[in-house]
Amino acid sequence: MKTVTILGATGSIGTQALSVASAFPDLFRVHGLSANRQVHLLAEQARRFKPAKVVIADPALYQELKALCSDLPVEVAAGASALCELAADIKHDIVLNALVGFAGLQPTLMALAAGKDVALANKESLVAGGHLVMPLARAQQKAILPVDSEHSAIFQCLQGQQAHTIEDLVITASGGPFFGRTQADLQNVTPQAALKHPNWSMGAKITIDSATMMNKGLEVIEAHWLFAMDYDKIKVVVHRESIVHSMVTFHDGAVLAQLGIPDMYIPIQYALTYPNRLHGNAPRLAWETVQSLHFAPPDTENFPSLRLAYVAGKMGGTLPAVMNAANEEAVRLFLAGEVSFLGISRIIDTVMNKHKVIIAPDFDALVDADQEARQLAQECAKKKG
Ligand code: NAD
Ligand code: MG
Repeated sequence: MKTVTILGATGSIGTQALSVASAFPDLFRVHGLSANRQVHLLAEQARRFKPAKVVIADPALYQELKALCSDLPVEVAAGASALCELAADIKHDIVLNALVGFAGLQPTLMALAAGKDVALANKESLVAGGHLVMPLARAQQKAILPVDSEHSAIFQCLQGQQAHTIEDLVITASGGPFFGRTQADLQNVTPQAALKHPNWSMGAKITIDSATMMNKGLEVIEAHWLFAMDYDKIKVVVHRESIVHSMVTFHDGAVLAQLGIPDMYIPIQYALTYPNRLHGNAPRLAWETVQSLHFAPPDTENFPSLRLAYVAGKMGGTLPAVMNAANEEAVRLFLAGEVSFLGISRIIDTVMNKHKVIIAPDFDALVDADQEARQLAQECAKKKG
């Protein structure tokens, strides 16, 4: 029996993680659940999964959640500090961090500091603070189990392999809804069009990141930290079908890949049951319907965000956190109709150029850099529209 806490339980990954947990009732007990603002769904989940604790990040919704859970034997708390306390709770074995954005970093650090394994969907934890997260995990001898499908694929390919035999990592990218388009075509893209991902159904922020290719940039930095790999050895290849989830080249020239239909069920299940591979209900790949698999180089001219992420990753220090914050803010403004699609990467580029990089920042310095970058991104958006 594993006791699991799910941070961001009401989101795309969170709800899928709860269906994995409910498929193995003898294996998982849910200890804690959190949400940002979705009180009704969180209360429903509390009723169904009977956790000991629920946390709503927005403190204004505390009374409402408390009332909705009044007949349940569950402790209710609110606010960012309650979220961190939940992450660090002594009563769970593993924390699945399915929060979105920089807000996920502190809970990741808190869970590790408390000696807990972390199943990590929140890639922004590693993008902004990989230099804090990975050494802490090592010092605590705790695992960071990747949930992101590409990293889960690489992690699965690496089982039983020796680190020195790895030549490079090949991360696949679907190319998103606008693959093949030019900047001229992308000028008037609406949030509605950008939210239509061809292969995956995900939260709004990561869906826009997929459309700009920033998601792949974030994943390159995530892979750098998870697998201690130089940026020169992390490649991105566009693969429209999203059947090959990623690959590893070894020094004898062999390439191992993990394949499956585009579905987060397997990566979530593998992260929660590792090192075991359990019999599961995920839909199977029907080879008769897979006619062919295509691969192409990424287009960094028309989708500059991927290139910006390599620049930020290689520079390190506060720059990846600044890039991430500028992206979060630019995506939020794009979804609100306040900046254009092409404005997203322009804002990130401008904010990165204005930033004076601090080497080896501690957590507080990252928070300052994050805040400053958000402010700058807003100012850029006002100027450029
Ligand atoms: P989502 O928006 O669907 O869900 C996010 C969850 O976090 C919700 O429960 C929300 O209430 C909570 N939340 C949001 N902001 C918060 C804040 N400031 N404080 C506290 N709680 C907050 O997002 P998602 O698509 O599930 O993605 C979650 C993470 O997993 C992201 O980092 C994303 O990049 C990564 N990821 C997602 C997928 C996917 O298929 N959805 C795949 C790979 C990786
Ligand atoms: Mg991914």
